Amino acid sequence: MYEGVNASDGIGIGVARVAVEPDLSFTPHAPEDAKAEEERYQAAVAKFIEQTNAQIERMTKTVGEEAAAIMGAHIEFAEDEGIRDMVNGSIESGMCAEQAVSEAYDMYYNMFSNMEDELFRERAADVADVKTGLLADLLGQELVDLSTLPENSIVVVRELTPSMTADIDKDNVAGIVTETGGRTSHSAIIARALEIPAVLSVADATSNIKNGDMVVVDGTNGKVIPTPSDHDLEHYRAKAKQYAEEKLALEAYRGKETVTADGEKKLLVANIGNPDDANVASEHDCEGVGLFRSEFLFMDAKELPSEDEQFAAYQKVALRMKDQPVIIRTLDVGGDKDIPYLHLEQEENPFLGYRAVRYCLGNQDAFRTQLTALMRAGADSGGQLWIMIPMVTTVAEIKQVRQLAEDISQKTGLPLPKIGTMIETPSAMLMADVLAKYCDFFSIGTNDLIQYLMAADRGNPNVAYLYQPCDPAVLRAIQAVIQAGARAGIPVGLCGEMASDAMLTPVLLGFGLERFSVSPSAILNTRREISRWSIQEAQKVAKHVLTLETAAEVAAYLAEVRKR
Ligand code: PEP
Ligand code: MG
Repeated sequence: MYEGVNASDGIGIGVARVAVEPDLSFTPHAPEDAKAEEERYQAAVAKFIEQTNAQIERMTKTVGEEAAAIMGAHIEFAEDEGIRDMVNGSIESGMCAEQAVSEAYDMYYNMFSNMEDELFRERAADVADVKTGLLADLLGQELVDLSTLPENSIVVVRELTPSMTADIDKDNVAGIVTETGGRTSHSAIIARALEIPAVLSVADATSNIKNGDMVVVDGTNGKVIPTPSDHDLEHYRAKAKQYAEEKLALEAYRGKETVTADGEKKLLVANIGNPDDANVASEHDCEGVGLFRSEFLFMDAKELPSEDEQFAAYQKVALRMKDQPVIIRTLDVGGDKDIPYLHLEQEENPFLGYRAVRYCLGNQDAFRTQLTALMRAGADSGGQLWIMIPMVTTVAEIKQVRQLAEDISQKTGLPLPKIGTMIETPSAMLMADVLAKYCDFFSIGTNDLIQYLMAADRGNPNVAYLYQPCDPAVLRAIQAVIQAGARAGIPVGLCGEMASDAMLTPVLLGFGLERFSVSPSAILNTRREISRWSIQEAQKVAKHVLTLETAAEVAAYLAEVRKR
């Protein structure tokens, strides 16, 4: 049995699909028969086109015609006569097909990536994809394609990037195992949104688990059982049944208000990553959206989405939520979220780098487009749409954002929406009383706040012992922000994964938290947890917790309290 991070609850039983990143290195050699080498190249092109056409057909069904059409560019570059002549010419002069393909596509790649025009520069990524596809075929390697897996697949990958998860075929994936990532890494968050059991940071998973092996993924306890015995299978099938029954029991909380045991009303909203997730969140009985991570909209596109495209996406969420509140976060690019067409520089410390509002204020045309789209959607929805700014570290940043929004409002006549900030850096936490003067609301982003407070990367298993929501420093920070918000009279929410941690529910209630923003799949359980506590009892727990000195003491005390 292997152990890892319990990133997404549930039991998955299926067949391992180990997606090893292919080794596309080769030794250049002179082929004996140039004609045969040309044929080998033609066969690779034909196969690539056939595979891409099949992919387009599938994508048309799943993501729509427009998105699928993007793949047409791949076919154009595979068939391009200029490239074909160049490759054949090189083969005739004595090169092997791998080298001829590599050189020809590299030349086109360099040409496109050096062009002034953004649109042309973006084609460089298509050229690179075609080169990878052709080389993989010539070298007899399989590429990772998470969109075409057979039923009951357990995906085993070194790292699951947010863009890979965007492709994942949720119906056929029974579980996910990775070698990297923590509970609050974006892959974990997406796995939970897709409700696929997942265990992350399992050392050497891609070499220890064999393709085709039967595997059990226990996402609740962070365990992976390769080639399970009949006894194991029986045990885990029973657990899967129990998990399904527990889920059913939560149905009693559907359609109910979110209230504490003594009747104090709380707001329970959802974290989503794209407009369709709003349907999922509604199905899970959310009371609005507390965090729409708009960067996923940008990640799913091939170029910056236009103002109209963004407006349509934001409006869709607002309309789906009817009169419920919707908070949309502006582009939080950087950190572990790359958007290839933005051509961000590689950085030594991306989580401390040019991220989120820093990028947006440095690229004001794109930021204006997003703010305008948001304000249009807000005007259309009757004012229930609030704008949230990620990674704010200084008061100057939020003032600049306000100024931009006011300027747009003046020029367009669009009403100024409520603007708030995420509190996810220590500086924002310490300056919360001042930030409150320029903010209509706060939302505490503990996923990041913990990593910056504790100086421990949220995805690094070696420092996971420091990355603890229970750490007294983290709890003091949260209390300070809630108090600063209360003094200023602005609403405070918490949208990090901590908001759905049942152990911490009494602490957050005791601190006076008003708004809990959680993954759709955690809504009913969080409602149940909130209903278990009266404010007075919760305050007692919160008060005691603040007298404790270490994360271990806090965790032990909260576990004890939960048992009572
Ligand atoms: C957070 O940091 O807590 C948060 C909600 O944002 P993200 O997880 O997208 O960084
Ligand atoms: Mg964050």
